[in-house]
Parts: sequence; C-alpha cells; structure tokens
Amino acid sequence: MEQIKFTGIVLKSVDYKEKDKLLTIFSLELGKITATLKGVKQEKAKLKFAAMPFCFAEFVASNNNGYLTITECYQIESFYNIISNYNKSITGFLFLEVSCIIMQKTPDEMWFLTLINFLKELEFGTANEKVLQIKFMLKTLNKVGYGLNFSNCLECGLKFINDVYLNLNTGELECSTCFGVNSLKLTKQQFSILKLIDSLSLTELKGVKQKDDVLTEIVNILKQNLNLRLGSNIRSLI
Ligand SMILES: [Zn+2]
Repeated sequence: MEQIKFTGIVLKSVDYKEKDKLLTIFSLELGKITATLKGVKQEKAKLKFAAMPFCFAEFVASNNNGYLTITECYQIESFYNIISNYNKSITGFLFLEVSCIIMQKTPDEMWFLTLINFLKELEFGTANEKVLQIKFMLKTLNKVGYGLNFSNCLECGLKFINDVYLNLNTGELECSTCFGVNSLKLTKQQFSILKLIDSLSLTELKGVKQKDDVLTEIVNILKQNLNLRLGSNIRSLI
C-alpha cells in the first residue's frame, strides 16, 4: 500500500461507521480530498485532534486504490482561539464552508494561502469578524469570476455618481439608470464600506470600524449574492 504525505486543513468531519470519521481536507498538494480516520471515536484515540475542523497539520495517509486512511497527523496550528470564541468560530466556519464549496480535487496553492491567512488574522489579529466575513466573500466572488467593480456601471460603463444597485441576476453592480427588476439598492454607506474593504489588504482591515448592524446588513447582501453565484446555500452565519 502506498503512503502519501500532505499538508492540509480539515474543512469538515462527519461520523462514519461506528467508530470512524470521514474528513474533508483541503490540502496544499492534492486539493480537496476525503480521508477516513479510523477508531477516532474511541475514548483513548490518539488522533482525536485530527478530526476537528480547523486542524491544520501535516498528514500521512495510506492510499488503497484512491481510498485514503489517515495514519499519522502532526499539528501545525489548532486555531484554538477560533474554536473557543463564538463570533470567531462562525466566521471561521464560513471560511471553511465556502472553501469546501469552491475547491476541487486539484491543487490551488493561492486559495490555500488565502484561507490560512484569513484564519491566522481571525485567530491572532484584531480585525472585526464581520469585516473579515465581508472581505472573504468579496475575495470568493473574485475567485469565481463575479468580482464586484466599484468604479463603473457594467451595463453603460459610466462612473458611479448616484445610487448603486446590485443586480442579483448577474451579480454585477449597476447605476441608477441601468438597474433591473431583481436589483438591490445599496445605501451610500453600504457602497462606501464595501468599496473600502475591497481596497484594503487583510492586515489593514483592523482599521475598519463600523456599527455592527451596518456590517450585518452588508454581510447578508453579500451572502445572498454569493449563494446565487455558487448555486448553493451557505449554512454558516445563520
Ligand atoms: Zn449604467
């Protein structure tokens, strides 16, 4: 039986058979994979930590015709602060869930680094969790080809001066002349916060201070748009 090694982060862990867990791992080398962790529900199981979402580790697995069974796991980071804090954990679960939806069985080094950097900022940084959620969803929209253009209307090409609308049919931002029946009007405040967060780097986000209800509205608008673009129903953040 072949042995393989990879660096990965556990996105999802579900019960499998009586004592096992089936892990979905986003790995640097292989992309998104599933692997079994045997006997992990027994009380004295050594690799219990490896069955936890957010476990970022070096894994060793045996490969039996494409069926991977984890045999060793060396933790790099547990992201314990994320798991033990409610607001941080729902934000972290959003990052994992969305990555699970958009990643495939092909390596994606850029997105792997993006995910780890967002989790590190969430674990060790001081940026507001909702600001991080907004930034992550904006990044995801870019990644799947629906990045928002904050300077010009995509229909007529004119610069945004007045009200801006998000067209839920196309996922594009439009001006007050071009908006369609299924467009959502953004308030000036929502538009400027979105534009600001989009322009800042991850480490600059700690400087963004906004009221919680304002950020919540933006999160909900982006989540609605992202669900439509991904054809899925993101369950985190409920
Ligand atoms: Zn227009």
